[in-house]
Amino acid sequence: VSASTNSRHMKPTLLVSRLYQPSNLHEVGQNTSLQGEMTCKSQRLMQQAGLIHPSNPGCYYYLPATVRSMEKLIRVIDQEMQGIGGQKLDMPSLCSAELWKASERWDLMGKELLRLKDRHDGDYCLAPTHEEAVTTLVAHQTSLSYRQLPLLLYQITRKFRDEPKPKFGLLRGREFYMKDMYSFDVSEEAAYQTYESVCQAYTRLFARLGLHCVQVQADTGNIGGKLSHEFQLPADIGEDRLLLCGNCSFAANVETVSSDSTDCPQCGTGTLVESKGIEVGHTFYLGKKYSNVFNATFSNAQNKLAVAEMGCYGLGVTRILAAAIEVMSTEEGIRWPGLLAPYQVCVVPPKKGSKADKAAVIAEELVQTLADALPLLRGEVVLDDRTQMTIGKRLKDASKLGYPYVIVVGQGALEEPTRFEVICQKTGEIMFLSKEGLLDLL
Ligand code: ATP
Ligand code: MG
Ligand code: MG
Ligand code: MG
Repeated sequence: VSASTNSRHMKPTLLVSRLYQPSNLHEVGQNTSLQGEMTCKSQRLMQQAGLIHPSNPGCYYYLPATVRSMEKLIRVIDQEMQGIGGQKLDMPSLCSAELWKASERWDLMGKELLRLKDRHDGDYCLAPTHEEAVTTLVAHQTSLSYRQLPLLLYQITRKFRDEPKPKFGLLRGREFYMKDMYSFDVSEEAAYQTYESVCQAYTRLFARLGLHCVQVQADTGNIGGKLSHEFQLPADIGEDRLLLCGNCSFAANVETVSSDSTDCPQCGTGTLVESKGIEVGHTFYLGKKYSNVFNATFSNAQNKLAVAEMGCYGLGVTRILAAAIEVMSTEEGIRWPGLLAPYQVCVVPPKKGSKADKAAVIAEELVQTLADALPLLRGEVVLDDRTQMTIGKRLKDASKLGYPYVIVVGQGALEEPTRFEVICQKTGEIMFLSKEGLLDLL
């Protein structure tokens, strides 16, 4: 009873004055001890817009608008991973040292591994990645048959790394979200096919987000294995150096290129050009490195036990969000990949006491009309009810937050024929549309 009573009395409209944004849009921007040091554009814009708030080095509060955006990103990642047969699970972050000693990474990881002891003096770490854990899990499945392979398991969870220099906001945190997928296959050939299908899914994902990433040959690092690629988003503040051939498809992280020559090792005629990139994804073919250690086996077609071929595939979820903001935004305001904007539309009614004051009701009705006519916009339209402020000031805030569409309900809304001013933030284009025109556009 109380639920239905509540829903009848609850005002469904999202009001800008009520959105939780502890940072002040107008005051943040200078370095102060409270805000931490501003090291890049995305960090500054995200703090200014009340998307993140610093806690301790490399750690942030992800505020409600960021969580909305992350949930949207996770939905797209889930679609792509499940589209190639991925099954989602969730593994413990607290990992026993035993597993890490078995793979020899307890020592190899050095200071980046966040270690701790439990009350029984047992050694643990906060997982920076989960090869050991997932391989142990699969090894426990004694009845695994070749008919069940390829097996693709993935999760989207917090990872912990004691980075030497946490900086650039969410781009390099000590605690961050990663999508990590692990594949188990019957043979090397099958593992390469799985590897290829994950790379294609990554390419589709970045295309859907409107991010022009390059897939480059990469070093396998301490994960081990034979084949590896990174998905790099070209950006000046990127910490990776890439070599791209002007003539053919050759693209590699400098870490993988032994000679300094600028001649392309693939086509021989092209010249390599260096650029910087942000590593947003990484794929590895692992072979039997972990499955041998942890004895992850399956019964093959001859009903004999065989060791599984593995691959692992990471995506920096929080890093993708910040990297998109870094490359798409202007100096003044955030521009989002359309799919990831926390809210799609902001409706701005006239200032209280102004000539167009009467249009305030029309603005409220418009929010309702949009939600009724366009189910996809439900929960995506906010009303900037701070009517003591001028339209201009509120438009400035809207530009900082980067709602893809801003609709100004002013004098034009009172005239015949009715006109609404629509600002498309991405292009800066301003249109004057009727209500029907508006519904068509959105
Ligand atoms: P980097 O070279 O930037 O340190 P990495 O090579 O150590 O990254 P991987 O082990 O390949 O990272 O992890 C998979 C993905 O997780 C990376 O491609 C990146 O997108 C993301 N990632 C790694 N470290 C961080 C971090 N400190 N903060 C945010 N995202 C990260
Ligand atoms: Mg690293
Ligand atoms: Mg790297
Ligand atoms: Mg990497």
